[in-house]
Amino acid sequence: MSLKERIKQVEERVQRACEASGRSREEIKIVAVTKYVSTEMTAAVLEAGLDQIGENRLETAGPKWEDLEGRGTWHFIGSLQTRKVKDVINKFKYIHSVDRISLAEELEKRCSAAGITVKIFVQVNVSGEDSKSGIRPEEAPEFIRSLSRFSHLEVIGLMTMAPYEAEPEETRPVFRGLRELRDKLNEQQVTREPLTELSMGMSNDFEIAVQEGATWLRLGSLLVGKGEEES
Ligand SMILES: *Cc1c(COP(=O)(O)O)cnc(C)c1O
Repeated sequence: MSLKERIKQVEERVQRACEASGRSREEIKIVAVTKYVSTEMTAAVLEAGLDQIGENRLETAGPKWEDLEGRGTWHFIGSLQTRKVKDVINKFKYIHSVDRISLAEELEKRCSAAGITVKIFVQVNVSGEDSKSGIRPEEAPEFIRSLSRFSHLEVIGLMTMAPYEAEPEETRPVFRGLRELRDKLNEQQVTREPLTELSMGMSNDFEIAVQEGATWLRLGSLLVGKGEEES
């Protein structure tokens, strides 16, 4: 399938999920996760009009970013080692995986020195699987309150990853849990401005995520392929 066809099919499915849940299509943004594909394919993705690019490793994203001269808006979606922060912040405007204070401190230090701000999602391990990163939901109020002292970090919302399920419907409690947590944090006013964003939903489960309130979908294999296809 060509990239254009993939994009069209995903778009139709997103629209149907919006209609099914009474949401407006404008509420949902798509991060095209290009971690499996080449620089050429990433360029094709940008040319096709998808300008939000997601990568999970600096080693592969760095050279790609250079080759593409930083075109588009880049999202760091993988786990981030503190020592790599300095190379991440001048390329990525969004970090989806903030899960510890030491990481936030380093982000603040580097952003402050560079005179920039970065938008962050706090990653939450809603499913409770050992293999998943993220803070525990019950830690969220205190963790997010403690981020308020970092003036170069703009906390915009929460991110989670659901376990892979053969039956996508089974991911629903995880996505619903993240939305309910966000609403609770807003009731408790843990941030000055309410948290609006929910980064959740991947190729296998994005329709459920849309129905449960996702505002950012992170779509890789279904949208841009796994690297074998032509653009
Ligand atoms: C790879 C990845 C995605 C995209 O996965 P697909 O299932 O290919 O859509 C989304 N989020 C994160 C954090 C990832 O690492």
